[in-house]
Amino acid sequence: MKILKNVFELNKAIKNYKNVGFVPTMGGIHKGHESLIKISQKNNRETIVSIFVNPTQFNQKKDFKNYPRNIKNDISILRKLKVNYLFLPEVNEIYKKKMKKFKLKKNDKILCAKHRKGHFEGVLNVMNRLLSIIKSKQVFMGEKDFQQYLLVKRILGKKYKINIFSCPTIRDSNKIALSTRNKLLKKSSIKTASKIAIELDQLKKMSLKDKLLDLSKCKYNLQNKFKIKIDYLEFRDEKKLKLNNFNSDYRLFIAYHINGVRLIDNF
Ligand code: AMP
Repeated sequence: MKILKNVFELNKAIKNYKNVGFVPTMGGIHKGHESLIKISQKNNRETIVSIFVNPTQFNQKKDFKNYPRNIKNDISILRKLKVNYLFLPEVNEIYKKKMKKFKLKKNDKILCAKHRKGHFEGVLNVMNRLLSIIKSKQVFMGEKDFQQYLLVKRILGKKYKINIFSCPTIRDSNKIALSTRNKLLKKSSIKTASKIAIELDQLKKMSLKDKLLDLSKCKYNLQNKFKIKIDYLEFRDEKKLKLNNFNSDYRLFIAYHINGVRLIDNF
């Protein structure tokens, strides 16, 4: 695996992106990332993974500082997976150029866009920069961050004329969606998060039979039962994230705080 630290090294190493798939990450590589990499490898001769903890998408400095990092371990996993290239830039390398910033439209200010102000503007900013550097035509993103996938696909997929593929959420045996942030959870919080995931999975299944579920009551009950703060608990369709549109495929979206850690998931 070639480790490329800047645009110069990257351009020297990769001349032709015709068969190179791209998997952007913030590191703390886990089985969720691995599944994206494997899907890219199935569809491309070569795969490039980026690891970049993007400061502009964190709306709290403390959250950015505490984000779990373990680059040595990441490199060893990526080597075992036979990833061809790892792009590992410093912040200055990504942000040295002036580039247009993105503003979300009013309709997009829902779910995490409403509750984490500036987060997706930061995601779009860094993805715009990464895609202007890494000229892959096939990008692989996880359904775990469904709203992120939809926004990047709609706004940057169009701009760069690239295919952005969604990959299913990988869960632990306890049903928690794998996430680098899970490393911040205490044992007791992991147990609770597992129970919450199981309840939400059932709730989604029940909703398929009875569309008239009162989610405000569910939200209230979950908050009290598990001592969590829920930012949102909403059914939204998969295409446009319209609220309670049960006429096409839909998901149950949640973001909640447990012992100072914010988790998101969808079912
Ligand atoms: P992150 O490193 O958390 O920014 O994630 C990098 C990519 O991996 C994003 O496209 C995520 O949606 C995806 N991802 C993260 N966790 C999972 C998971 N449990 N299953 C599938 N994809 C995931």
